[in-house]
Amino acid sequence: MDLGLKGKRALVCASSKGLGLGCARALAEAGVALVMNARGAEALEAAAADIRSDFGVDVTTVACDVTTADGQAQVLEAAGDIDILVTNAGGPPPGMWSDWDREDFIAALDANMLTPIALMKAVLPRMMERGWGRVVNITSQSVRAPIGVLGLSNAARTGLTGYVAGTSRQVAHAGVTINNLLPGIHATDRAISLDKGVTEAQGITMEEAKAQREASIPARRYGTKEEFGAACAFLCSQHAGFIVGQNILLDGGGTNITM
Ligand code: NAP
Repeated sequence: MDLGLKGKRALVCASSKGLGLGCARALAEAGVALVMNARGAEALEAAAADIRSDFGVDVTTVACDVTTADGQAQVLEAAGDIDILVTNAGGPPPGMWSDWDREDFIAALDANMLTPIALMKAVLPRMMERGWGRVVNITSQSVRAPIGVLGLSNAARTGLTGYVAGTSRQVAHAGVTINNLLPGIHATDRAISLDKGVTEAQGITMEEAKAQREASIPARRYGTKEEFGAACAFLCSQHAGFIVGQNILLDGGGTNITM
């Protein structure tokens, strides 16, 4: 299917690895020029070089922490007028409700709620003026079915979800869509670190932790960054203009709900 994205321009945050990289690669494959971002310059440059050589699109890199005001200013300056924004950042650490203080919540809100909101606020006016735009926020299955040890993530991401529910409906008339992609467990560094937490809590091996988690997923496997990226590229495509304000689970059936 031709996604109709050739010649468009996207900012994909937190995209040197994992799900962000999956989105960047799928957009590049559709002919989209990219601004890519991550804190670590080495992995970012390597990912960008692969994309240039695999897909022949322009890629600009911005090595910075996108959850800071300075980082946001840097990525926005490099991005200029973009057609597509994919927001993403690392997730907050797991823990117990009794561990977290105000500062922990502020950090989680900054990273996983206020950063995507600030980026949207910056790019939406020009997208609306030009009559076309796509925003995809990478959130988590935890907004549909909260995960106990991820209380900081649950709190921050449901805040973003509420914001998107209202804002997406205020901008849709101008040809701009905002949707959230909700990953269940995917085979990335984040999954490795979550599995490591299980090995420590339960005294089991990494293989056992992975097998235990896979057994709880109807698809009996972890998702891949490639299939996640393909879903993102479709949401950004010309065919997805009527998909507005949705929270789309990519979780192998792991979230046991009807709607
Ligand atoms: P990942 O494999 O650890 O990759 C994270 C990427 O984001 C890396 O490129 C990392 O590069 C970059 N990054 C992290 N913090 C950043 C920051 N502050 N500023 C700029 N770049 C940053 O993670 P992932 O699995 O792709 O997860 C992406 C998001 O989805 C996370 O919020 C995660 O919590 C959520 N999620 C993931 C899963 C899963 O199973 N994988 C499930 C549910 C939700 P640097 O470290 O160099 O900055």
